[in-house]
Amino acid sequence: MNMPQRLDAGALDSLASDISKIAGISVERNAPSGPLCTYRVGGPIGVLARIETPDALTALAERVAVHDPLPMLVIGKGSNLLIADVGFAGLGLLLVGDAFTAIDISGVTVTAGAAAPLPLVARASVREGLTDFEWAVGVPGTVGGGVRMNAGGHGSDMSANLVSVDVVDFQRGGRHTIAAGDLELGYRRSNLAAHQVVVAATLRLAQASVEPHEEDKTAGEATLSDIVRWRRSNQPGGQNAGSVFTNPANDSAGRLIDVAGLKGRRVGTAEVSTVHANFIQVDPNGSANDVMALMREMVAAVDAMSGIRLHAETRLVSFADVDVAFVQPMPTNPHLRTRNGSATTKDGTIE
Ligand SMILES: Cc1cc2nc3c(=O)[nH]c(=O)nc-3n(C[C@H](O)[C@H](O)[C@H](O)COP(=O)(O)OP(=O)(O)OC[C@H]3O[C@@H](n4cnc5c(N)ncnc54)[C@H](O)[C@@H]3O)c2cc1C
Repeated sequence: MNMPQRLDAGALDSLASDISKIAGISVERNAPSGPLCTYRVGGPIGVLARIETPDALTALAERVAVHDPLPMLVIGKGSNLLIADVGFAGLGLLLVGDAFTAIDISGVTVTAGAAAPLPLVARASVREGLTDFEWAVGVPGTVGGGVRMNAGGHGSDMSANLVSVDVVDFQRGGRHTIAAGDLELGYRRSNLAAHQVVVAATLRLAQASVEPHEEDKTAGEATLSDIVRWRRSNQPGGQNAGSVFTNPANDSAGRLIDVAGLKGRRVGTAEVSTVHANFIQVDPNGSANDVMALMREMVAAVDAMSGIRLHAETRLVSFADVDVAFVQPMPTNPHLRTRNGSATTKDGTIE
């Protein structure tokens, strides 16, 4: 069965009215997506549900089964998302309640809600004398987005410490625990599909030393500060979504884009950063379609120069004319593929 890319206005109205009856969920029709994404661009979300509790999320999963199949999009901090100007004509989910941001640490085990910001998890773990998760202080996403993307940096990534995730599955229904080994975590990818919503993740970290000392925390704090300082001097601020493209084998996307002479190249409201060529900066009141047009130019220029095809790290949502070669390879496990069984949807959208 093919998953529809867009619900029509009537279907969205009916979805909004139906799910607004669920306790612990507030619903907004045609919610602007710009404020939800670090690019601060993008069109409206047809139906945006703000979810207060894991139980409300599970109830929602049961309820929307009647709207099946349903295009859906979970939004964390929106720090790796580019939603087209046309918007997303489906169900958007925001996990907003305290249960989704809780961070519990017991020994070396850290359990964090899906909406917990990665930098806060990194800082909390260092405060408890733990090590191995300091890298996450520089990644401005959530635990859920971090798992989905297998976020990483400074020589590590989520897969290094992830034990398991709890997921509410909008196709199977109910809440399930998935072991990290079953997520096919690879370079900036996992096999989680759009209908699998991460609720919480469990990490196993290491103690900074056998007998935790105050000095260990101080050393951890120093590492956090070093990472933050490094980010501030090597990456631009402003409206961006981090690295636009994944690094090809044995090379860096930023280096290739730089050598192709594209630093400072502008399309409309979007510009290749002059600080880091694999970042795109967007003007206030900018356009997602400008970002996409610039991405196409970057891909074409690097291809023409080197024969290397760049792939988007940014998750691209609702672009009607995306070349599928643009997107990352998707799950190989047939049981965990998207509902229509293809690695990408027909229009190349990967959500
Ligand atoms: C300045 C800057 C620096 C960055 N540096 C890095 C870096 O060093 N390393 C790195 O890996 N990334 C980096 N990023 C990208 C981004 O922060 C990461 O990919 C992050 O993990 C995305 O998390 P998010 O919550 O913002 O996810 P979003 O951007 O909101 O979503 C990304 C994907 O995850 C899905 N998702 C979000 N929440 C959930 C959930 N609860 N359950 C299931 N799926 C979910 C979304 O549907 C989408 O497919 C950077 C971004 C910026 C802006």
